[in-house]
Amino acid sequence: MPGFTPGRRWQPPYLPFKREPFDRRALATLEKTIKGPVFGCRMCGNCLLQETAFICPMECPKGARNGPCGGSTAEHCYVDETRPCIWYKIYDRSFRLGREEKLLEVLPPLDWDKTGTETWGDVFRQVRKMGTGKVISGLLFKPAKTRYETWDEVFRTVREPEWWQGDNQYHAPKYSEPASELEKRLKAGEFVVTAEVAPPISCKTEKMCKNIELVKPYVAAINFTDNPSATPRTASWACSALAVQQGADPVMQIAARDRTRVGLQSEVMGAYDLGIRNILCISGDSMKMAPPPRGRMDIIDIDSIQMLWILRRMRDENKYLDGREIKTPPRYFLGAAASPFASEPKFQAIREHKKVNAGAQFFQTNLVFDVKHMEIWLNELAKRSILDKVFILIGITPLKTFKMAKYMNDEVPGVSIPESILSRMEAAEKAGNAQEEGVAIALELIDEIKKFIGQGVNGLHIMAVGWEEIVPRIITEADVLPKGFVAPVAPVTTG
Ligand code: SF4
Repeated sequence: MPGFTPGRRWQPPYLPFKREPFDRRALATLEKTIKGPVFGCRMCGNCLLQETAFICPMECPKGARNGPCGGSTAEHCYVDETRPCIWYKIYDRSFRLGREEKLLEVLPPLDWDKTGTETWGDVFRQVRKMGTGKVISGLLFKPAKTRYETWDEVFRTVREPEWWQGDNQYHAPKYSEPASELEKRLKAGEFVVTAEVAPPISCKTEKMCKNIELVKPYVAAINFTDNPSATPRTASWACSALAVQQGADPVMQIAARDRTRVGLQSEVMGAYDLGIRNILCISGDSMKMAPPPRGRMDIIDIDSIQMLWILRRMRDENKYLDGREIKTPPRYFLGAAASPFASEPKFQAIREHKKVNAGAQFFQTNLVFDVKHMEIWLNELAKRSILDKVFILIGITPLKTFKMAKYMNDEVPGVSIPESILSRMEAAEKAGNAQEEGVAIALELIDEIKKFIGQGVNGLHIMAVGWEEIVPRIITEADVLPKGFVAPVAPVTTG
Protein backbone atom coordinates (compact mmCIF):
# COMPACT_ATOMS: atom_id res chain seq x y z
CA MET A 1 0.00 0.00 0.00
CA PRO A 2 2.21 2.67 -1.30
CA GLY A 3 -0.17 5.44 -0.16
CA PHE A 4 -0.52 4.47 3.52
CA THR A 5 3.11 3.44 4.01
CA PRO A 6 5.20 5.60 1.66
CA GLY A 7 8.15 3.97 -0.02
CA ARG A 8 6.72 0.48 0.23
CA ARG A 9 7.20 -2.06 -2.47
CA TRP A 10 3.99 -3.18 -4.12
CA GLN A 11 3.90 -6.91 -4.59
CA PRO A 12 1.38 -8.98 -6.50
CA PRO A 13 -1.33 -10.67 -4.44
CA TYR A 14 -1.52 -14.42 -3.93
CA LEU A 15 -3.89 -16.42 -6.11
CA PRO A 16 -6.21 -19.08 -4.72
CA PHE A 17 -5.06 -22.66 -5.15
CA LYS A 18 -8.43 -23.83 -6.43
CA ARG A 19 -11.38 -22.22 -8.20
CA GLU A 20 -13.70 -20.70 -5.60
CA PRO A 21 -17.50 -20.25 -5.99
CA PHE A 22 -18.60 -17.03 -7.68
CA ASP A 23 -19.72 -15.20 -4.52
CA ARG A 24 -16.37 -15.84 -2.80
CA ARG A 25 -14.47 -14.74 -5.89
CA ALA A 26 -16.54 -11.55 -6.04
CA LEU A 27 -15.89 -10.82 -2.37
CA ALA A 28 -12.17 -11.57 -2.81
CA THR A 29 -12.01 -9.12 -5.74
CA LEU A 30 -13.69 -6.43 -3.65
CA GLU A 31 -11.36 -7.09 -0.70
CA LYS A 32 -8.29 -7.00 -2.92
CA THR A 33 -9.43 -3.77 -4.59
CA ILE A 34 -9.82 -2.02 -1.25
CA LYS A 35 -7.19 -3.60 1.01
CA GLY A 36 -4.50 -3.72 -1.66
CA PRO A 37 -4.08 0.04 -2.13
CA VAL A 38 -4.90 0.89 1.49
CA PHE A 39 -2.92 -1.67 3.49
CA GLY A 40 -0.60 -3.31 0.93
CA CYS A 41 -2.64 -6.49 1.39
CA ARG A 42 -1.35 -9.49 -0.59
CA MET A 43 -4.48 -11.59 -0.02
CA CYS A 44 -2.76 -14.18 2.15
CA GLY A 45 -6.23 -15.22 3.31
CA ASN A 46 -4.98 -15.31 6.93
CA CYS A 47 -5.28 -11.63 7.81
CA LEU A 48 -3.36 -10.26 10.79
CA LEU A 49 -3.48 -6.52 10.08
CA GLN A 50 -5.02 -5.88 13.50
CA GLU A 51 -1.77 -6.91 15.15
CA THR A 52 0.64 -5.29 12.73
CA ALA A 53 -0.41 -1.63 12.92
CA PHE A 54 -2.45 -2.11 9.73
CA ILE A 55 0.60 -2.76 7.55
CA CYS A 56 0.61 -6.09 5.74
CA PRO A 57 3.85 -7.96 6.59
CA MET A 58 3.51 -10.33 3.64
CA GLU A 59 6.08 -8.45 1.58
CA CYS A 60 8.89 -9.54 3.94
CA PRO A 61 11.07 -11.79 1.75
CA LYS A 62 11.68 -14.08 4.71
CA GLY A 63 7.95 -14.61 5.10
CA ALA A 64 8.28 -13.44 8.71
CA ARG A 65 4.79 -13.07 10.18
CA ASN A 66 5.99 -12.48 13.73
CA GLY A 67 8.53 -9.69 13.58
CA PRO A 68 11.79 -8.63 11.97
CA CYS A 69 14.70 -10.92 11.27
CA GLY A 70 18.13 -10.29 12.78
CA GLY A 71 19.14 -8.21 9.76
CA SER A 72 16.40 -5.58 10.00
CA THR A 73 17.53 -1.94 9.85
CA ALA A 74 15.88 1.47 9.57
CA GLU A 75 17.41 1.89 6.11
CA HIS A 76 16.32 -1.14 4.14
CA CYS A 77 15.56 -4.83 4.03
CA TYR A 78 18.82 -6.76 3.98
CA VAL A 79 17.53 -9.26 1.43
CA ASP A 80 16.49 -6.55 -1.01
CA GLU A 81 18.12 -3.19 -0.43
CA THR A 82 15.73 -1.45 -2.80
CA ARG A 83 12.83 -1.76 -0.37
CA PRO A 84 12.39 -0.81 3.29
CA CYS A 85 12.25 -3.50 5.96
CA ILE A 86 8.51 -3.83 6.31
CA TRP A 87 8.87 -5.02 9.88
CA TYR A 88 10.84 -1.92 10.80
CA LYS A 89 7.88 0.09 9.51
CA ILE A 90 5.39 -2.04 11.45
CA TYR A 91 7.37 -1.64 14.69
CA ASP A 92 7.89 2.06 14.13
CA ARG A 93 4.20 2.69 13.56
CA SER A 94 3.13 0.40 16.41
CA PHE A 95 5.26 2.41 18.84
CA ARG A 96 3.96 5.70 17.49
CA LEU A 97 0.35 4.49 17.87
CA GLY A 98 0.99 2.92 21.29
CA ARG A 99 0.13 -0.52 19.86
CA GLU A 100 3.52 -2.15 20.48
CA GLU A 101 2.20 -4.71 22.99
CA LYS A 102 0.03 -6.12 20.20
CA LEU A 103 3.23 -7.25 18.52
CA LEU A 104 3.66 -9.88 21.23
CA GLU A 105 0.85 -12.14 20.06
CA VAL A 106 2.31 -15.26 18.43
CA LEU A 107 0.73 -15.39 14.98
CA PRO A 108 0.15 -18.53 12.95
CA PRO A 109 1.74 -19.68 9.71
CA LEU A 110 -0.37 -19.43 6.58
CA ASP A 111 -3.13 -21.92 6.06
CA TRP A 112 -2.32 -22.33 2.37
CA ASP A 113 -5.81 -23.62 1.72
CA LYS A 114 -7.06 -20.08 2.35
CA THR A 115 -4.32 -18.19 0.54
CA GLY A 116 -5.68 -15.94 -2.18
CA THR A 117 -9.22 -16.10 -0.80
CA GLU A 118 -11.19 -13.45 1.07
CA THR A 119 -11.19 -13.04 4.84
CA TRP A 120 -14.14 -10.67 5.02
CA GLY A 121 -16.50 -13.63 4.81
CA ASP A 122 -14.86 -15.01 7.98
CA VAL A 123 -15.37 -11.65 9.67
CA PHE A 124 -19.06 -11.48 8.67
CA ARG A 125 -19.61 -15.06 9.85
CA GLN A 126 -18.02 -14.29 13.21
CA VAL A 127 -20.15 -11.15 13.60
CA ARG A 128 -23.28 -13.20 12.91
CA LYS A 129 -22.16 -15.84 15.39
CA MET A 130 -21.63 -13.25 18.12
CA GLY A 131 -24.92 -11.50 17.22
CA THR A 132 -24.86 -8.55 14.82
CA GLY A 133 -26.77 -6.30 17.24
CA LYS A 134 -24.46 -7.16 20.11
CA VAL A 135 -21.38 -6.40 18.02
CA ILE A 136 -22.76 -3.07 16.78
CA SER A 137 -23.74 -1.95 20.26
CA GLY A 138 -20.41 -3.24 21.67
CA LEU A 139 -18.53 -1.16 19.15
CA LEU A 140 -20.62 2.00 19.27
CA PHE A 141 -22.22 2.49 22.64
CA LYS A 142 -19.96 0.88 25.23
CA PRO A 143 -16.89 2.02 27.22
CA ALA A 144 -13.49 1.82 25.53
CA LYS A 145 -12.57 -1.50 27.22
CA THR A 146 -15.75 -3.21 25.93
CA ARG A 147 -15.26 -1.67 22.49
CA TYR A 148 -11.75 -3.11 22.38
CA GLU A 149 -12.90 -6.55 23.59
CA THR A 150 -15.72 -6.70 21.05
CA TRP A 151 -13.39 -5.72 18.22
CA ASP A 152 -10.84 -8.29 19.35
CA GLU A 153 -13.43 -11.05 19.62
CA VAL A 154 -14.38 -10.46 16.00
CA PHE A 155 -10.88 -10.43 14.57
CA ARG A 156 -9.13 -12.84 16.89
CA THR A 157 -10.98 -15.81 15.44
CA VAL A 158 -9.89 -14.74 11.97
CA ARG A 159 -6.20 -14.47 12.78
CA GLU A 160 -5.95 -17.24 15.43
CA PRO A 161 -7.53 -20.43 14.08
CA GLU A 162 -8.45 -23.31 16.35
CA TRP A 163 -5.31 -25.25 15.41
CA TRP A 164 -2.99 -22.44 16.51
CA GLN A 165 -4.47 -20.42 19.40
CA GLY A 166 -1.47 -18.11 19.73
CA ASP A 167 -1.36 -15.60 22.57
CA ASN A 168 0.90 -13.00 24.12
CA GLN A 169 1.63 -14.88 27.34
CA TYR A 170 4.70 -16.59 28.74
CA HIS A 171 4.34 -20.38 28.98
CA ALA A 172 6.78 -21.88 31.48
CA PRO A 173 8.23 -25.24 30.40
CA LYS A 174 6.23 -28.14 31.83
CA TYR A 175 9.11 -30.29 32.99
CA SER A 176 11.60 -30.03 35.80
CA GLU A 177 14.58 -32.33 35.13
CA PRO A 178 17.00 -30.64 32.70
CA ALA A 179 16.75 -32.03 29.19
CA SER A 180 20.45 -31.58 28.42
CA GLU A 181 23.87 -30.97 29.93
CA LEU A 182 23.67 -27.36 28.75
CA GLU A 183 20.37 -26.80 30.54
CA LYS A 184 21.66 -28.55 33.66
CA ARG A 185 24.70 -26.28 33.89
CA LEU A 186 22.72 -23.12 33.23
CA LYS A 187 20.12 -24.04 35.82
CA ALA A 188 22.91 -24.72 38.30
CA GLY A 189 24.00 -21.11 37.86
CA GLU A 190 27.23 -21.90 36.05
CA PHE A 191 28.67 -19.32 33.63
CA VAL A 192 28.69 -21.53 30.54
CA VAL A 193 30.51 -21.36 27.26
CA THR A 194 29.25 -22.91 24.04
CA ALA A 195 31.17 -22.98 20.79
CA GLU A 196 30.35 -23.44 17.16
CA VAL A 197 32.02 -26.18 15.13
CA ALA A 198 31.56 -25.82 11.39
CA PRO A 199 29.88 -28.78 9.65
CA PRO A 200 32.01 -30.10 6.82
CA ILE A 201 31.46 -28.85 3.31
CA SER A 202 31.84 -32.39 1.96
CA CYS A 203 31.21 -35.92 3.25
CA LYS A 204 34.57 -36.05 5.01
CA THR A 205 33.90 -35.66 8.72
CA GLU A 206 37.34 -36.40 10.24
CA LYS A 207 38.33 -32.77 10.78
CA MET A 208 34.98 -31.90 12.32
CA CYS A 209 35.21 -34.91 14.65
CA LYS A 210 38.70 -33.80 15.69
CA ASN A 211 37.39 -30.31 16.31
CA ILE A 212 34.64 -31.76 18.49
CA GLU A 213 37.29 -33.63 20.53
CA LEU A 214 39.35 -30.45 20.71
CA VAL A 215 36.67 -28.12 22.09
CA LYS A 216 34.55 -30.64 24.04
CA PRO A 217 36.41 -30.41 27.37
CA TYR A 218 36.19 -26.61 27.31
CA VAL A 219 32.51 -26.05 26.61
CA ALA A 220 29.08 -27.01 27.87
CA ALA A 221 27.71 -27.64 24.38
CA ILE A 222 28.70 -27.46 20.73
CA ASN A 223 26.60 -25.77 18.04
CA PHE A 224 26.32 -27.08 14.52
CA THR A 225 25.17 -24.48 12.06
CA ASP A 226 22.45 -25.20 9.52
CA ASN A 227 23.77 -24.29 6.09
CA PRO A 228 24.96 -20.73 6.85
CA SER A 229 24.91 -18.31 3.90
CA ALA A 230 22.27 -20.63 2.42
CA THR A 231 25.13 -22.83 1.19
CA PRO A 232 24.87 -26.61 1.60
CA ARG A 233 27.03 -28.38 4.17
CA THR A 234 26.59 -31.63 6.09
CA ALA A 235 23.25 -31.49 7.94
CA SER A 236 23.21 -30.08 11.46
CA TRP A 237 21.29 -33.12 12.75
CA ALA A 238 23.94 -35.50 11.37
CA CYS A 239 26.82 -33.49 12.89
CA SER A 240 24.90 -33.32 16.18
CA ALA A 241 24.41 -37.09 16.14
CA LEU A 242 28.15 -37.59 15.57
CA ALA A 243 28.82 -35.25 18.50
CA VAL A 244 26.51 -37.33 20.72
CA GLN A 245 28.54 -40.41 19.78
CA GLN A 246 31.67 -38.52 20.89
CA GLY A 247 30.14 -37.70 24.26
CA ALA A 248 29.47 -34.02 23.54
CA ASP A 249 26.21 -32.15 24.10
CA PRO A 250 25.22 -30.72 20.69
CA VAL A 251 23.03 -27.74 19.89
CA MET A 252 21.26 -28.57 16.65
CA GLN A 253 20.44 -25.42 14.69
CA ILE A 254 17.35 -25.44 12.50
CA ALA A 255 16.81 -22.70 9.94
CA ALA A 256 13.23 -21.87 8.99
CA ARG A 257 14.50 -21.14 5.49
CA ASP A 258 14.74 -24.85 4.64
CA ARG A 259 11.81 -26.23 6.61
CA THR A 260 8.19 -26.95 6.07
CA ARG A 261 5.85 -27.54 8.99
CA VAL A 262 5.90 -31.27 8.31
CA GLY A 263 9.67 -31.46 7.91
CA LEU A 264 10.27 -29.53 11.12
CA GLN A 265 8.14 -31.78 13.33
CA SER A 266 9.56 -34.93 11.77
CA GLU A 267 13.16 -33.71 12.10
CA VAL A 268 12.99 -32.85 15.81
CA MET A 269 11.52 -36.25 16.65
CA GLY A 270 14.28 -37.96 14.68
CA ALA A 271 16.85 -35.75 16.40
CA TYR A 272 15.46 -36.72 19.78
CA ASP A 273 15.78 -40.40 18.86
CA LEU A 274 19.44 -39.77 18.03
CA GLY A 275 20.09 -38.27 21.48
CA ILE A 276 20.00 -34.58 20.52
CA ARG A 277 18.55 -32.46 23.34
CA ASN A 278 19.27 -28.81 22.46
CA ILE A 279 17.56 -27.18 19.50
CA LEU A 280 18.18 -23.64 18.28
CA CYS A 281 15.48 -22.16 16.02
CA ILE A 282 16.65 -19.49 13.60
CA SER A 283 15.30 -17.77 10.49
CA GLY A 284 18.45 -18.65 8.54
CA ASP A 285 20.39 -16.55 6.07
CA SER A 286 18.34 -15.60 3.06
CA MET A 287 18.76 -17.39 -0.26
CA LYS A 288 20.07 -13.98 -1.35
CA MET A 289 23.40 -14.91 0.27
CA ALA A 290 23.59 -18.23 -1.57
CA PRO A 291 25.75 -18.87 -4.61
CA PRO A 292 23.61 -18.85 -7.78
CA PRO A 293 21.37 -20.31 -9.03
CA ARG A 294 19.23 -19.14 -6.13
CA GLY A 295 16.10 -20.73 -4.76
CA ARG A 296 12.94 -18.80 -3.99
CA MET A 297 13.53 -15.81 -1.79
CA ASP A 298 9.96 -14.88 -1.04
CA ILE A 299 8.19 -18.00 0.23
CA ILE A 300 8.87 -19.55 3.60
CA ASP A 301 6.44 -21.95 5.25
CA ILE A 302 7.14 -21.12 8.89
CA ASP A 303 9.15 -18.45 10.70
CA SER A 304 11.48 -18.96 13.66
CA ILE A 305 8.90 -17.85 16.25
CA GLN A 306 6.31 -20.21 14.82
CA MET A 307 8.95 -22.96 15.04
CA LEU A 308 9.40 -22.27 18.75
CA TRP A 309 5.63 -22.27 19.33
CA ILE A 310 5.19 -25.56 17.46
CA LEU A 311 8.11 -27.27 19.23
CA ARG A 312 7.11 -26.05 22.69
CA ARG A 313 3.61 -27.41 22.20
CA MET A 314 4.96 -30.71 20.91
CA ARG A 315 7.05 -31.05 24.06
CA ASP A 316 4.75 -29.56 26.72
CA GLU A 317 1.28 -30.23 25.35
CA ASN A 318 1.98 -33.50 23.47
CA LYS A 319 0.48 -31.99 20.33
CA TYR A 320 1.39 -31.87 16.69
CA LEU A 321 0.59 -28.64 14.89
CA ASP A 322 -2.54 -30.25 13.46
CA GLY A 323 -3.78 -31.03 16.98
CA ARG A 324 -3.14 -34.79 16.95
CA GLU A 325 -1.74 -36.18 20.17
CA ILE A 326 1.90 -37.31 20.37
CA LYS A 327 1.95 -40.35 22.62
CA THR A 328 5.66 -40.06 23.49
CA PRO A 329 6.68 -36.47 22.86
CA PRO A 330 10.28 -35.36 22.33
CA ARG A 331 12.02 -33.47 25.14
CA TYR A 332 14.47 -30.73 24.36
CA PHE A 333 15.93 -27.45 25.58
CA LEU A 334 14.77 -24.79 23.16
CA GLY A 335 16.89 -21.88 22.05
CA ALA A 336 16.72 -18.96 19.68
CA ALA A 337 19.01 -16.38 18.17
CA ALA A 338 18.96 -12.84 19.52
CA SER A 339 20.21 -9.81 17.68
CA PRO A 340 21.23 -6.87 19.90
CA PHE A 341 22.47 -4.80 16.95
CA ALA A 342 19.59 -5.14 14.49
CA SER A 343 17.10 -2.26 14.06
CA GLU A 344 16.59 -0.58 17.47
CA PRO A 345 17.13 -2.21 20.86
CA LYS A 346 13.52 -1.57 21.93
CA PHE A 347 12.26 -3.19 18.70
CA GLN A 348 14.54 -6.18 19.15
CA ALA A 349 13.47 -6.47 22.79
CA ILE A 350 9.86 -6.99 21.67
CA ARG A 351 11.05 -9.64 19.26
CA GLU A 352 13.11 -11.40 21.97
CA HIS A 353 10.16 -11.13 24.38
CA LYS A 354 7.93 -12.79 21.82
CA LYS A 355 10.49 -15.57 21.34
CA VAL A 356 10.54 -16.20 25.09
CA ASN A 357 6.74 -16.33 25.14
CA ALA A 358 6.77 -18.72 22.18
CA GLY A 359 9.17 -21.11 23.90
CA ALA A 360 12.80 -19.87 23.82
CA GLN A 361 14.63 -20.94 26.98
CA PHE A 362 18.06 -19.70 25.95
CA PHE A 363 19.43 -17.11 23.55
CA GLN A 364 22.68 -17.20 21.69
CA THR A 365 23.27 -13.69 20.42
CA ASN A 366 24.73 -12.44 17.22
CA LEU A 367 28.34 -11.21 17.47
CA VAL A 368 28.95 -8.53 20.07
CA PHE A 369 31.80 -6.08 19.54
CA ASP A 370 30.30 -3.16 21.43
CA VAL A 371 29.50 -3.96 25.05
CA LYS A 372 27.90 -0.56 25.70
CA HIS A 373 25.33 -1.22 23.02
CA MET A 374 24.79 -4.72 24.39
CA GLU A 375 24.02 -3.13 27.75
CA ILE A 376 21.35 -0.92 26.17
CA TRP A 377 19.75 -4.01 24.66
CA LEU A 378 19.94 -5.87 27.98
CA ASN A 379 18.25 -2.93 29.70
CA GLU A 380 15.40 -3.12 27.18
CA LEU A 381 15.00 -6.83 27.96
CA ALA A 382 15.03 -6.02 31.68
CA LYS A 383 12.21 -3.51 31.16
CA ARG A 384 10.20 -6.36 29.67
CA SER A 385 10.90 -8.56 32.73
CA ILE A 386 12.20 -11.49 30.71
CA LEU A 387 15.74 -11.80 32.04
CA ASP A 388 14.64 -14.37 34.62
CA LYS A 389 12.89 -16.45 31.95
CA VAL A 390 15.71 -16.98 29.49
CA PHE A 391 19.45 -17.72 29.67
CA ILE A 392 21.58 -15.42 27.54
CA LEU A 393 24.88 -16.44 25.94
CA ILE A 394 26.71 -13.57 24.29
CA GLY A 395 28.19 -14.18 20.84
CA ILE A 396 31.96 -13.69 20.51
CA THR A 397 34.13 -14.09 17.43
CA PRO A 398 37.91 -13.82 17.42
CA LEU A 399 38.78 -11.76 14.35
CA LYS A 400 41.48 -13.32 12.22
CA THR A 401 42.13 -10.64 9.63
CA PHE A 402 41.19 -7.04 8.89
CA LYS A 403 39.39 -8.25 5.76
CA MET A 404 37.21 -10.54 7.87
CA ALA A 405 36.40 -7.65 10.24
CA LYS A 406 35.43 -5.40 7.31
CA TYR A 407 33.34 -8.13 5.73
CA MET A 408 31.48 -8.81 8.95
CA ASN A 409 30.82 -5.15 9.57
CA ASP A 410 29.74 -4.37 6.01
CA GLU A 411 28.03 -7.55 4.86
CA VAL A 412 26.81 -9.68 7.75
CA PRO A 413 23.28 -8.72 8.82
CA GLY A 414 22.99 -7.61 12.43
CA VAL A 415 26.76 -7.25 13.00
CA SER A 416 28.31 -3.91 13.82
CA ILE A 417 32.01 -3.42 14.63
CA PRO A 418 33.11 -0.09 16.14
CA GLU A 419 35.62 2.00 14.20
CA SER A 420 38.17 1.63 17.03
CA ILE A 421 38.25 -2.17 16.59
CA LEU A 422 38.43 -1.92 12.81
CA SER A 423 41.41 0.47 13.12
CA ARG A 424 43.18 -1.85 15.55
CA MET A 425 42.75 -4.76 13.16
CA GLU A 426 43.95 -2.70 10.22
CA ALA A 427 47.08 -1.58 12.08
CA ALA A 428 47.75 -5.11 13.33
CA GLU A 429 47.39 -6.52 9.84
CA LYS A 430 50.00 -4.08 8.57
CA ALA A 431 52.28 -5.13 11.42
CA GLY A 432 51.71 -8.81 10.61
CA ASN A 433 49.98 -9.79 13.88
CA ALA A 434 46.28 -9.56 13.07
CA GLN A 435 45.45 -12.94 14.67
CA GLU A 436 47.03 -11.99 18.01
CA GLU A 437 45.19 -8.68 17.95
CA GLY A 438 41.93 -10.50 17.20
CA VAL A 439 42.45 -12.75 20.22
CA ALA A 440 43.35 -9.76 22.42
CA ILE A 441 40.15 -7.96 21.34
CA ALA A 442 38.05 -11.06 22.08
CA LEU A 443 39.59 -11.37 25.56
CA GLU A 444 38.98 -7.69 26.32
CA LEU A 445 35.34 -8.03 25.21
CA ILE A 446 34.87 -11.11 27.40
CA ASP A 447 36.29 -9.22 30.37
CA GLU A 448 33.71 -6.49 29.82
CA ILE A 449 30.88 -8.97 29.26
CA LYS A 450 31.68 -10.81 32.50
CA LYS A 451 30.69 -7.68 34.41
CA PHE A 452 27.10 -8.49 33.42
CA ILE A 453 27.01 -11.88 35.12
CA GLY A 454 23.95 -11.75 37.36
CA GLN A 455 22.50 -8.92 35.26
CA GLY A 456 21.17 -11.01 32.42
CA VAL A 457 24.31 -12.62 31.00
CA ASN A 458 24.71 -16.35 31.65
CA GLY A 459 27.57 -17.25 29.38
CA LEU A 460 29.31 -16.94 26.04
CA HIS A 461 28.82 -18.43 22.63
CA ILE A 462 32.09 -18.53 20.67
CA MET A 463 31.76 -18.53 16.91
CA ALA A 464 35.26 -19.12 15.63
CA VAL A 465 34.18 -19.39 11.96
CA GLY A 466 36.51 -22.23 10.99
CA TRP A 467 39.22 -21.29 13.55
CA GLU A 468 38.22 -23.87 16.16
CA GLU A 469 41.85 -24.36 17.31
CA ILE A 470 41.69 -20.98 19.03
CA VAL A 471 38.67 -21.84 21.21
CA PRO A 472 40.58 -23.64 24.05
CA ARG A 473 43.07 -20.78 24.29
CA ILE A 474 40.39 -18.11 24.49
CA ILE A 475 38.42 -19.98 27.13
CA THR A 476 41.55 -20.64 29.19
CA GLU A 477 42.93 -17.11 28.98
CA ALA A 478 39.52 -15.57 29.61
CA ASP A 479 39.30 -17.69 32.76
CA VAL A 480 35.91 -19.14 31.88
CA LEU A 481 36.78 -22.84 32.00
CA PRO A 482 33.81 -25.05 32.88
CA LYS A 483 33.23 -26.24 36.42
CA GLY A 484 35.11 -29.50 37.02
CA PHE A 485 37.33 -28.91 33.97
CA VAL A 486 39.81 -31.70 33.32
CA ALA A 487 42.59 -30.77 30.93
CA PRO A 488 42.93 -33.15 27.98
CA VAL A 489 45.87 -35.56 28.42
CA ALA A 490 47.46 -34.79 25.08
CA PRO A 491 46.62 -31.84 22.89
CA VAL A 492 44.41 -32.82 19.97
CA THR A 493 45.79 -31.69 16.66
CA THR A 494 43.53 -30.83 13.78
CA GLY A 495 44.30 -30.44 10.16
S1 SF4 B 1 15.12 -7.12 6.85
FE1 SF4 B 1 14.39 -9.14 7.48
S2 SF4 B 1 12.42 -8.77 8.51
FE2 SF4 B 1 12.92 -6.91 7.35
S3 SF4 B 1 11.76 -7.20 5.43
FE3 SF4 B 1 13.91 -7.91 5.11
S4 SF4 B 1 13.86 -10.12 5.56
FE4 SF4 B 1 11.94 -9.24 6.38
